Amino acid sequence: MTRAVRVVALAVLLGGLPGAAFAQSAPDLDPRIVALVGQISQDRLAGTLKKLETFGTRNTMSSTDSPSRGIGAARQWLFDELKNYGPKLQVSYDTYVIARQGRILRDTEARNVLAVLPGRSPRRIYVSGHYDTVAIADGGQSARNAAGAAGEAVRADPDATAPGVNDDGSGVALTLELARVFSQSGLDFDATLVFMCHVAEEQGLMGAKLHAQKARKDAVPIDAVLNNDIVGNDRGGNGVVDSVSIRVYSEGPEDSPSRELARFVQRWGARYVPSHHVRLMARPDRFSRGGDHTAYTQYGFPAVGFRESRENFTRQHDARDTFDGVSPAYLAQNARVNAAAAATLALAPPRPVVVNDRGQATIDRAPSGYDAHLRWKASSGATAYRIFWREAWGPDWQHELLVGNVTEATLPDTLIDDLIFGVSAVDASGHESVVSPYIAPPSTAVDAGDVKTVSAPSAR
Ligand SMILES: [Zn+2]
Repeated sequence: MTRAVRVVALAVLLGGLPGAAFAQSAPDLDPRIVALVGQISQDRLAGTLKKLETFGTRNTMSSTDSPSRGIGAARQWLFDELKNYGPKLQVSYDTYVIARQGRILRDTEARNVLAVLPGRSPRRIYVSGHYDTVAIADGGQSARNAAGAAGEAVRADPDATAPGVNDDGSGVALTLELARVFSQSGLDFDATLVFMCHVAEEQGLMGAKLHAQKARKDAVPIDAVLNNDIVGNDRGGNGVVDSVSIRVYSEGPEDSPSRELARFVQRWGARYVPSHHVRLMARPDRFSRGGDHTAYTQYGFPAVGFRESRENFTRQHDARDTFDGVSPAYLAQNARVNAAAAATLALAPPRPVVVNDRGQATIDRAPSGYDAHLRWKASSGATAYRIFWREAWGPDWQHELLVGNVTEATLPDTLIDDLIFGVSAVDASGHESVVSPYIAPPSTAVDAGDVKTVSAPSAR
C-alpha cells in the first residue's frame, strides 16, 4: 500500500497525523562531512600547483619522451600521485588515439587520468579538471576580444612553454586534493566517486567528449559532474579582486538536471562553507567560451562548470600563467565547496523518480481538482522526502517542506499551474539528494502534430 501524507494547515499537520509519517529531524550538517571539508589543505594545493608548473608545458601534443617536461611526464606524475593516496583509489589511464583533425595537428595519443573510489552503488559522481595546457601568440586575447577563439590553438607550438598553473592546474590540484581527502576519510559512500583529470580540453574538449561518449554507450550511470576549470585566481585583469565567491555555470533550461545540480551545489556549499558564496549562472558557460562540463551535458549527463569569480585573461593560454598568478587560499575555498557538495551527494540516497513509465511527471490536481498532488518512487536508503516549490517565474526554490517516509503528498488548494514543484530524497542522517522537478517534457513539432486540412475549392 502506498503511504501518503496530506499536508493541511500546519496546526492540523502537527497534531493530526501519525508520527510515523515524519522523519526524525537530523541536523543539517553531518560532522563527518565537516571533518572532511576541514581536511582540504591550502599547502597541499600550493604544492601540486608548483609541481605542475615544473613540467614546462602539458600541451596535449607536446613531447612524451622527457621524464620531466611535457604531457608524458605530467600524466605519469598524476598517475603516481593518485596512487600514493592509498589503496582505496583505483587509478588508471583512459586512453585514446585522436586522429589529426581541427586543433589536433597529428595523430595523438591522449590519456585522461582518473581515480575511482568505489561506493556501494554504481551511480557515479565526478570531480574534474583538465591537465593539458596551451600557450598561444597573445594568450588568445585578440581572439577573445573578437568573441571567437576557433582555431586559436592551431597557432600554438606544442613544445612552447605553457605552465598552465591556473588553466587548469587549479582544477587538477583541486581534483587531486579531493581524491586524497575522500579516499582517506574512512567514509562509506553510497555513490562511486571519480576523480578525473581530462586531457585535450584545449583542442575542443576532446578527452572529456571521448570519455562521456563511451560512458553513454556503456550506460554508465553518471549522476553529477563537478568540473573545475580556472578556479585559482582571485584578481581580475581589470584590478577587481573577489576572493569570496565562485561562479557555477550550467546548461538550461531552468529545471534541467544540470540546473538542479547547480542549485544543489549552492544550497549545500552555503551550509558547509558559509564564508564562500556560490553564484549561479543561468548559461552554459562564459560568453563564447567552453569547458569540459559541456562535453558531459552534450551526452546527457548532469554537469556544472566552476569558474573563478574574476579572471585575468592576459594570464591564460600564455607563458605567464604561473604560480605567482594564483591564490592557494582562494583555491582552497573553492575546493571546500566542491567537497561539501560531492560528499553530501555521495552519501545521500539517489534522487527520487518523479515520472511514470511513459516519462510523464507524476503530478496532478487530485483529489479536489484544485490541489497539488505529488507522487514519486521511493529512493533506496531514503527515510524522508523534502518537497520544494516556487513561483513559475523565478529560478530559486522559495519553499520547502520535509515529509516523512512516504511516496506521495497533497497540498490542498495549491495550483500546480502557477508553481513549480520538486522533491528530494533524505536519509536518516539528513543527507539530501538533488531535487527532481515535476516538469512537462518540452513540446516539439512532433508532439504538436501537423494540423490536417482538406482541400477546399479555391475561392473565385
Ligand atoms: Zn581550461
